[in-house]
Amino acid sequence: TAILETRGLDKHFGGLHVTNGVDFSVGDGEVHCLIGPNGAGKSTFFRLLIGEYTPEGGQVLYRGEDITALKPFERVRRGLSVKFQVPGIFPGLTVAHNLEIALQHHLEGASLSSEIRRLLDFLNLKEAAGERAGTLSHGQKQWLEIGMAISLKPRLLLLDEPTAGMSPAETFATGEMVQALNRDGVAILAIEHDMAFVRQIAQRVTVLHVGRIFAQGSTDEIVANEAVAAIYLGETEAPRR
Ligand code: ADP
Ligand code: MG
Ligand code: MG
Repeated sequence: TAILETRGLDKHFGGLHVTNGVDFSVGDGEVHCLIGPNGAGKSTFFRLLIGEYTPEGGQVLYRGEDITALKPFERVRRGLSVKFQVPGIFPGLTVAHNLEIALQHHLEGASLSSEIRRLLDFLNLKEAAGERAGTLSHGQKQWLEIGMAISLKPRLLLLDEPTAGMSPAETFATGEMVQALNRDGVAILAIEHDMAFVRQIAQRVTVLHVGRIFAQGSTDEIVANEAVAAIYLGETEAPRR
């Protein structure tokens, strides 16, 4: 069954049809990657899913419920959480304090401190717990943001280019975090450019191109698809920030 589905989703910017009748689904408990050339409409599609943009046509369904008219916070409350590329951390506060803020919605006292410790360990940030978040490396900041997103206990986590700017070792460690979350039952939809990372984490891949679904399939099928490689040529190695 699908945890998330879109039906005929449409979004224009002026004369530009950026999301063009997209029918899409993420299976419950699935790791799904959304790939496609720069400008394909991936980030716009995410913003439609979380309610930051309103579509001109079509529907977004979450766990079978039509959420198209719901505000972003109402979607988050239902278990749809997102980590964007834009930093969402408090740079002047410590790593541990950032996590404390994110967790305080549903925890306090001893369970709050033990959950902070568990998250610091999970995020490879134990050594950095007392550092100000603004002094972290780029990769560590990304991990802290993932930590803040999963503090909300999502059933579906959306990640927009989670490995952008990361070293290969950091990228691999991020993949292990995604896999561990998935083992705990969290479905993940990630926009990605790094095909090694896609191979590491994805069960299914969707290729977006000029606002439409160009191809969809298992990771092996998509990686081996020459038509996909042709629209994607040069993109996977291009600078990503
Ligand atoms: P991707 O994430 O795949 O690189 P985007 O969704 O960011 O693609 O952009 C898709 C297209 O829509 C691009 O041509 C971009 O310039 C355009 N676009 C994105 N956001 C806006 C906006 N707020 N206003 C006008 N055009 C936009
Ligand atoms: Mg882009
Ligand atoms: Mg984008």
